[in-house]
Amino acid sequence: MNVSTFRAECLDCGYVFAFPLLPEEAFGEFVVVSETGMALGYLNSFAHPAWDTIHNVVSEHFGTSTRRTLPRFGAVRPRALEHVEVFQWVVGRCIDSAHGHSWHLSYPVCSQCRSRNVSYGNGQLVGALEAPSISFAAFDHLTPEHQSSRVRELIAEYESSEEHRGA
Ligand SMILES: [Zn+2]
Repeated sequence: MNVSTFRAECLDCGYVFAFPLLPEEAFGEFVVVSETGMALGYLNSFAHPAWDTIHNVVSEHFGTSTRRTLPRFGAVRPRALEHVEVFQWVVGRCIDSAHGHSWHLSYPVCSQCRSRNVSYGNGQLVGALEAPSISFAAFDHLTPEHQSSRVRELIAEYESSEEHRGA
């Protein structure tokens, strides 16, 4: 998948870099970024049953409907925001790792200082990058019961991690 990149600037260290963004109308499609910010992938959620499986288990955990819609980032209630964050984090952990990377969805990370305090989206086109399609092969190989328990383990891992406590 060829993805356009836009100017992004780290607000902590000043590093300027190109950040990939899909067009607004690319519903259900995401760019995934490695933890280091150095590797990119393309995720079409409609192509992966794992997406709905994870969504259903996370929604169950939060006691909400299992419809496909998720609240948007922005002015949402804290619980809804947590729901989105947990969901996105779990999806990232269920994607097959490439060269030891684990993935997260679509928010920019500075590759110099790994800060997430990054300004982007002013529409300044920089270029384009090739983002290879990611896969959920390892997750898809699990039985449905193991898929559910894997997602529940990851939710527990997220909720007990220092990094996310009180965020
Ligand atoms: Zn930085």
